[in-house]
Amino acid sequence: MYVNFIELKKSVSITQVLDAYGIQLKKERNQLRGPCPICGSDSKRAFVVTPSEGLWHCFKCDDPSGGDIISLVERLLNLRPKEAARDIQQKCLNVTTEEKADKPKGKLKPLSYLQAEHETVQELGIPAEVATKLGCGYSPKGIMRGRVAFPLRDENGKLIAYCGYSSKDGTLKLPTF
Ligand SMILES: [Zn+2]
Repeated sequence: MYVNFIELKKSVSITQVLDAYGIQLKKERNQLRGPCPICGSDSKRAFVVTPSEGLWHCFKCDDPSGGDIISLVERLLNLRPKEAARDIQQKCLNVTTEEKADKPKGKLKPLSYLQAEHETVQELGIPAEVATKLGCGYSPKGIMRGRVAFPLRDENGKLIAYCGYSSKDGTLKLPTF
């Protein structure tokens, strides 16, 4: 399905995207600031969003360190631009397509940065070697930041999503389908 990036950016604001992807920032004058959901920088002011321009910028991210809603979701979920645009359509505009019903979403790449030896994983009673085998681990950045991420697979063993457990509040963050 063809996605018109310009139309999409017109119909979805960056604040809608922040809401839809659970990114919480603090308002400072005409900007929003907070820790970066992409690089996981702890600085409370590293990630800046200017809603009036629909742009984001991070002072700690590697290149590209800023852009529009599409590059934001692209970097956040490790997707290609077209997939990111589709994801935004589905999450923010409730657009479902025939294509989506027939074909599962594009290949989800395993998160390469999960830490199998992290103490939060140990606390759950999962030995590091088991965590490595399962492909689960503590996520220091990205959408599962601060959680132990577990891969979810379909009946064919294909990776379809991650869910994340937080030891802080005992909640499980589930993906939306
Ligand atoms: Zn960053």
